[in-house]
Amino acid sequence: MAQALRQEDFDSVRVRDGAGLRFEVAGEVARLGCTKALVLSTPQQCDLALEICEALGDAAAGVYSKAAMHTPVDVTEDALSHLSLSGADCLVAVGGGSTVGLGKALAYRTGLPQITIPTTYAGSEATPILGQTENGVKTTLTDAKVLPSVILYDPELVATLPVGMTVTSGLNAMAHAAEALYAENRTPETTNLAIQGLKDLAQGMPKVVQAPGDLEARALTQHGAWACGTVLGRVGMALHHKLCHTLGGTFDLPHADTHAIILPHAIAYNARAAADELAPITEVLGGNNAGRALYDFGKSLGAPLALKSLGVTEADLDHAADLAVQKPYPNPQPVTREDIRALLQSAWAGDVPAF
Ligand code: NAD
Repeated sequence: MAQALRQEDFDSVRVRDGAGLRFEVAGEVARLGCTKALVLSTPQQCDLALEICEALGDAAAGVYSKAAMHTPVDVTEDALSHLSLSGADCLVAVGGGSTVGLGKALAYRTGLPQITIPTTYAGSEATPILGQTENGVKTTLTDAKVLPSVILYDPELVATLPVGMTVTSGLNAMAHAAEALYAENRTPETTNLAIQGLKDLAQGMPKVVQAPGDLEARALTQHGAWACGTVLGRVGMALHHKLCHTLGGTFDLPHADTHAIILPHAIAYNARAAADELAPITEVLGGNNAGRALYDFGKSLGAPLALKSLGVTEADLDHAADLAVQKPYPNPQPVTREDIRALLQSAWAGDVPAF
């Protein structure tokens, strides 16, 4: 059940950016009045977690490196036992949305403060939203307790993202901003922030694809990801996020790739009813159709375009369309099964958007 957040909840988050900032993590722990931090990561980023431990020095309470996609509750429970044995009085999550999700899940259960050091553009660190999976079912809650106390954006950490993930993760961030433009509860402030996020990513992504180590461009993309994540936490999402949630959960698809493929199609679908709201997308990316502009932008960066490349079969599309229209939600363009099935067909084939 969504819980109303106050502006102070967002304002109290300390956000810093700068190359090498991860080495200042011990100072951030002390600033919180804490003494020992448990460092969280995925198994793939354990070396980075150990580097953070070294930077923490005496303030390190060890590493828990089993964070996994979609925040499985059994992993959280295992991490909780580890946490209570470690004697930690705060958490440091270093990684993408999966690791940030574990930090949020632990903070939700213990009330411990978190420092997050993001290494993708997913934007979870900027939202009070926690998605968790139990027995194959993903549920989502919103609570001020899951907002981090500190976010450290260190561009050196996204510079290690492989180019493919850079592109899909960046488009994942842009998806938050695109849907924020037509959100029912948008405000002029959220719209401005969404436009800023789209601009930063549109400008920064081609540069980092060309030169992954360009730290200035990486910092720009991180700023964009922060803006996009912030609007994700403040306004309601619609068709695009619902479709990705359904497809990801039903067919166990990679999160960022699914967003990258669906985004142009969902936005083209809604542009019929929200052309004015979506105009900033063509102002930023060019062209005269927001969905097509996103398709061309993704294609120019080598983004995956087709659901079939993720192993979805054409026969799966009927089931996905049935699921996608089961629960009604606010969306600019009415959601009909026939139209969603047509949308999915184009996204499956990797064609230009059908609408
Ligand atoms: P991820 O965190 O699952 O990372 C994918 C893989 O890339 C992991 O193996 C990770 O260790 C590795 N990786 C991450 N950064 C790297 C880097 N810089 N260099 C090399 N490898 C790196 O992927 P994600 O897309 O960031 O996060 C997806 C998860 O986040 C999903 O579970 C999604 O639901 C959640 N999410 C939640 C919110 C929210 O507000 N609650 C918002 C966005 C995403």
